[in-house]
Amino acid sequence: MIVERLAEVRERIERAAERAGRDPAGITLLAVTKVFPATAIREAYAAGLRDFGENYVQEFEGKYPEVADLGEARFHLIGHLQSNKSKKAAELFHAIQTVDSAKLARRLDECGRPLDILLEVKLSAEEAKAGADPAELPELIAAVKQCPNLRLRGLMTMPPWSDDPEPTRPYFRRLRELGEQYGLGELSMGMSHDLEVAIEEGATCVRVGTALFGKRKKE
Ligand SMILES: *Cc1c(COP(=O)(O)O)cnc(C)c1O
Repeated sequence: MIVERLAEVRERIERAAERAGRDPAGITLLAVTKVFPATAIREAYAAGLRDFGENYVQEFEGKYPEVADLGEARFHLIGHLQSNKSKKAAELFHAIQTVDSAKLARRLDECGRPLDILLEVKLSAEEAKAGADPAELPELIAAVKQCPNLRLRGLMTMPPWSDDPEPTRPYFRRLRELGEQYGLGELSMGMSHDLEVAIEEGATCVRVGTALFGKRKKE
């Protein structure tokens, strides 16, 4: 199952990269395994995937013993992180894509483990969405750069949901512009239904769950 779905997703990525005149090797496929059991991670690893995204520290803590032996796997936290869970997160994950405050950055730094960091940016006015306001970026970037254990790689965003990917394009474009403005190369944007648009706008990491593992039962 995963093998065929993975081939389809890879083909979508390649076609979109080709249209945009980009090298598909510059685009990381992050397999989003939230809600799915550890066996899904193992199957995806066997199929060749190496980067995995999880949303909840506690959920991943439960799966971790079953995937800890996957030596080349890299685990990314892509859900909101409360600072009281930062220690556990720093132990379990290689990358935190959702840093949105200087306080959280400092808490992660204090854990003493090297971590790749993306700053989550909130580009819409939706109440519920996590992420830093673009106006806060200079301060946040300065704070992360002062943290010796954190390696600032880029930006991440989660635009308002839209079935049609086209209305999402301006959000992706805006994230790319912010990356250019601040000299941050990694752009984590695009999911199962809009990864093509995200790649056309410069995504270096697409976060794909449903298209690889099927529909999630609950969240
Ligand atoms: C669940 C999730 C995804 C994956 O979404 P799909 O539509 O299943 O591909 C990507 N990014 C984040 C932050 C998510 O929470």
